[in-house]
Amino acid sequence: PEASPHPPMVELSRYACKRRTSTENHNEIFTDAFEVLAESYEFSQCDSQCLAFRRAASVLKSVPCPLQHVGAAASLPCLGGHTRAVMQEILQYGQSCEVEKILCNDRYQMLKLFTSVFGVGPKTAEKWYRGGLRTLKDALEDPSIELNSMQKAGFLHHKDISQSVSRAEAMALGDILHETALGISAHAVLVLTGGFRRGKAFGHDVDFLLSTPEKGKEEILLLSLVDSLRRQGILLYCDHHTSTFDINNMPGVSFEAMDHFAKSFLILRLYDSQVEGGLQRVEGQDDGRSWRAVRVDVVTPPMERYAFALLGWTGSRQFERDLRRFARKENRMLLDNHGLWDNTKVLLTAPPHPAQTDGSSPLVLLG
Ligand code: ATP
Ligand code: MN
Ligand code: MN
Repeated sequence: PEASPHPPMVELSRYACKRRTSTENHNEIFTDAFEVLAESYEFSQCDSQCLAFRRAASVLKSVPCPLQHVGAAASLPCLGGHTRAVMQEILQYGQSCEVEKILCNDRYQMLKLFTSVFGVGPKTAEKWYRGGLRTLKDALEDPSIELNSMQKAGFLHHKDISQSVSRAEAMALGDILHETALGISAHAVLVLTGGFRRGKAFGHDVDFLLSTPEKGKEEILLLSLVDSLRRQGILLYCDHHTSTFDINNMPGVSFEAMDHFAKSFLILRLYDSQVEGGLQRVEGQDDGRSWRAVRVDVVTPPMERYAFALLGWTGSRQFERDLRRFARKENRMLLDNHGLWDNTKVLLTAPPHPAQTDGSSPLVLLG
């Protein structure tokens, strides 16, 4: 075939895990629009369209320059007719009519607002919207709505939690949790994971993986950690999920779902004095407080599952999704946060924790 007048600079894989992606996004004008469309489809439970726009955004994030012509996108994977039409509109008029319409849409705005509360998912948001609620105050004051404890905490700390977390704030929390964990067990291992491990400068929460070489003691360690945070007066909320992990019952069927490790979804209090350079200043929010609330996730896999848990919690969601798809389709293996199985469902040996590695495990390749 004739060469495209705008060949892409690199050949990109259909799998996010095979694409080199930096934290610098040269195509934000498109990916922001795709994200709005994906979210709108998510609110309408159109999962495949939602996924298509998330995929397209992920592909464009790995293009190392701004695309200035749709022709340049011709040989990029995962961009269908709809995505290309949106790109064309943005290139021509500076914005997409479809996206602008969604942004002005009452239902979209309300669902976006309601789901911004910790503990409120798309289904609850939809129910509230259908019930005629239009503000957060409506939801708080409606006598027919019984908020669960997570949502109560979500409302209480909504302002703080909606504000992004800076890297300095994430590091400060890491220091606090590390010191607290070491106070409980000298063998405790704590690693930063999630978006900050990928090098992002801001996040919606801070994710940590906690473990110990003492077999079967991970969950106790987590519970003691949470207890110690409570005694330090910095625990604002804890939703603990007990471990249901049993390697002999795996791989399970609910493959993409949450993993079985013990974990806690927390809200912690972080003081200005604990952060290098201080807490982020937010305009119009100076209420004289010397602290802010931050969402923190802590997951505690057994040490021999450390590598897979770390891989699974580092994200991004699209990277994880494609990594599992790649294992399945290209290698006929099964991968999840707990392990890797071959095509006869035999569990493959896990790479040891870096502190214990002798460099001989072939699966270290995965890290
Ligand atoms: P952000 O900056 O928005 O926090 P992030 O990439 O850190 O971005 P998270 O939602 O914190 O996003 O999730 C981090 C990773 O952990 C994701 O890749 C996700 O797959 C994984 N993850 C999150 N929650 C769970 C869970 N309950 N069970 C298993 N894996 C999870
Ligand atoms: Mn995160
Ligand atoms: Mn998280």
